[in-house]
Order: sequence, then C-alpha cells, then structure tokens
Amino acid sequence: MTALTNLLDLDPAQLVAYCAELGEKPFRAKQLQRWIHQFGASDFDAMTDLAKSLRDKLKSRATIAAPSVITDHTSADGTRKWLLDVGQGNAVETVFIPEENRGTLCISTQAGCAVNCRFCSTGKQGFSRNLTVGEIIGQLWMAEFELRKTKGIEPGPKGERQITNVVMMGMGEPLLNFEPTVTALKLMLDDNAYGLSRRRVTVSTSGVVPMIDKLSQECPVALAVSLHASNDALRDGLVPLNRKYPLAELMAACRRYLAFAPRDFITFEYCMLDGVNDSDAHARELVALVQNGEDSVPCKFNLIPFNPFPESGLKRSNNARIKAFAQILMDAGIVTTIRKTRGDDIDAACGQLAGEIQDRTKVQERMQKMAEYQKKFGKNFGRIVEVPR
Ligand code: SAH
Ligand code: SF4
Repeated sequence: MTALTNLLDLDPAQLVAYCAELGEKPFRAKQLQRWIHQFGASDFDAMTDLAKSLRDKLKSRATIAAPSVITDHTSADGTRKWLLDVGQGNAVETVFIPEENRGTLCISTQAGCAVNCRFCSTGKQGFSRNLTVGEIIGQLWMAEFELRKTKGIEPGPKGERQITNVVMMGMGEPLLNFEPTVTALKLMLDDNAYGLSRRRVTVSTSGVVPMIDKLSQECPVALAVSLHASNDALRDGLVPLNRKYPLAELMAACRRYLAFAPRDFITFEYCMLDGVNDSDAHARELVALVQNGEDSVPCKFNLIPFNPFPESGLKRSNNARIKAFAQILMDAGIVTTIRKTRGDDIDAACGQLAGEIQDRTKVQERMQKMAEYQKKFGKNFGRIVEVPR
C-alpha cells in the first residue's frame, strides 16, 4: 500500500497539482483548501460540495493529519500550551497567547535546535530534526480549531478568528528549516487558507544572514532578530552563529531586508541576562550599533527577561536594571518594550520550550546533522563558547 499524502503538507500550488493528478480542476483545490484550513475539516465525507467520487478518491489516497496532542495546558493568565508528538520520541510545543485585541500563536519549526544559544533550553537539547510543512502549519490548524471548539465558535470564515498573529518563536531556528517554513508561511498568508497579513506573521531568527536575504525574496513577513549582545565578542559567546555571521553582516542584512519588509522596522529581541549583557554601557553600545549614520537600522527593541532553567548558570536581570536599560534606548528615540513573562506556571515562557520527551537514542543522527551544519556554517557552529565578562 502506498503512503497516504498528508494534504497539510501541500501549499496552494501543490494542492492544485495534486488535484490535477486526480483529474480535477483547479477550483476543486481551492474548495479543498478552504475545507481544510478554514473549516478545520479532516474528514473527507464532511466536504459536502465535493463530488462523492472525488471524496472516495481522497479517502483512499490522502489524509489530513496534524501532529497529535500529548498534553494541553492552560495557564492562569489564559496562555495555552500544547505539547505535540512529532514521532520517534520527539515533541515540540505550540503556545497561544491571548491579548485584548489579538491572539498570538507561537509555533515551532524544528525539534530541538542546532544553534545552541547559551541561554536557551531548546538549544541545550541539541538538534533532532526539521519539522515538515504539515507539522508546522498543522500547529496553526490544530490550535485555531481547538480554540474555537473550546469557545463554541463555529468553524469557517464566518466564525470569529482566534489566532490573528503568528510568531515563529517556539522551538527551532526557522531559517535553518527554510523551505518548509516558507511553504507554511505562504499558507498562513493565502486568502483561501488563513489570510493573515504579512505584518501579523513574524519570523524570528538568530541571524542566518544568507537566509534573511532569501526570505526577503521568497516571502517577506515581519522580521525579528535575536540580538542579545551589543558587540561581537559578547555575541560570539551567547549566540555561536555570530562567529559565522558577525554583527556588521547581520546589520547589513537587516537593512537589506527592510527594502522588502511589510513593516518599516526590524524587531530586535534582547534577552536580559544579569551581569552579562545588561549594563548601561551595553545599552549605549547598542544605540551606537543601530544608529550609525548611513548604516543605521530602523528598529524596535523587545527586552525579554531571561527565563531561567537549571543548567544555564545564568540569572535574570532585575526589574530596575531592565527599566534603566530600556530608558537608555528610549532616550535615544528607540521604541522599546519589555516583554511580559507569560505562561510561567506551565513552562510556556520563551526558551522554556524544552519538551518533556526526548529521545536520547537518536544521538548519532543528531551528530550527523550537526556535522552537516558545521560544514556549512563553520566548525564553531552549535558549540558552547564561554561568555567573556
Ligand atoms: N530560533 C529563533 C526563534 C526561536 S527562540 C531565534 O533564536 O530567534 C525565540 C526567542 O526566545 C529568541 O529571541 C530567543 O533568543 C528567546 N529565548 C530563548 N531562550 C530564552 C530564555 N531562556 N529566556 C528568554 N528568552 C529566551
Ligand atoms: Fe535555537 Fe533560537 Fe534557542 Fe538559539 S534561541 S538555540 S536559535 S531556538
């Protein structure tokens, strides 16, 4: 028996091609896509405006399957976190953050991460594997329709949309899983699927410079860059990828991206680490980095209080320090926000998405992937380097 095609893996053009293979016209693909992504249907029999013969064909050859839910927790502040099974002992997390006028879904793009930032518990797990398109878009599909079910809101375009914004800030480095990430992004933006505007979809990257350029060409959505340091020596120690793509190159890539971006600024994320990157001098150095005459980068800063985890050996900066740091940026005219830590009680805060399930038997596969990345990005790729003080 041939394996069933998971229709969540297909972007709009691929779905048209798939329908053509079945001898169906392009408008059938559109109908099918609406059933899947707007009604959350997974049962072909429910797709009543498709001919019975087509439904039967689909039943024998295709499936609509998101990763299955292992756990589903809602925090006291309304944050909801799902742990999803992506097979072979790997699990990823998806987090919904409700706010007054919007609902943001934070999705994962890889099981584990090879970048190995010093302050990130996902990085500490090592890299397991890239998620497929179906596993990435499947997080949005599952979450949107689960949230509606919980609230008793009807599926379909008339039902009130629960997820208005998507951020790729869960587990993994989206730009190191480029093609599936972009395909999933295209589905998020497609009017016959989720119809989100480019401004409401954000890719967060630790700074994979060539892929930032590629994203600007293939699917320019809002961009967040995880900066975390004001100079190369410090950043080399916190984000090992910096050794391959140092700050000057990263800043230049940000400027190039802005020519195509849906917003006229880059969001810089900056994790506040006590005694490591949080002094007034660091703040002033940051201002100089982004306000550098012709080389300036229009930007906003989002300061993230570090979410500690046991093995990190790092501490969160205290609130007064974070405020003083923010004030220096704001005095220089940079819009700066301090991220509220949410979902703390269910371990859904940034960098805590470690996943309770890990398969330690797949070490060899991981090492092989890591070797591949190191060949591509240099021998220090994914290595922990001591932070200079
Ligand atoms: N790999 C991408 C996206 C996922 S991480 C990236 O690095 O941008 C999402 C954000 O959470 C990043 O800004 C990351 O630096 C931050 N983060 C990771 N671990 C954290 C922790 N322990 N505390 C606070 N923020 C953390
Ligand atoms: Fe990977 Fe992002 Fe964590 Fe760094 S912060 S290890 S890039 S998930």
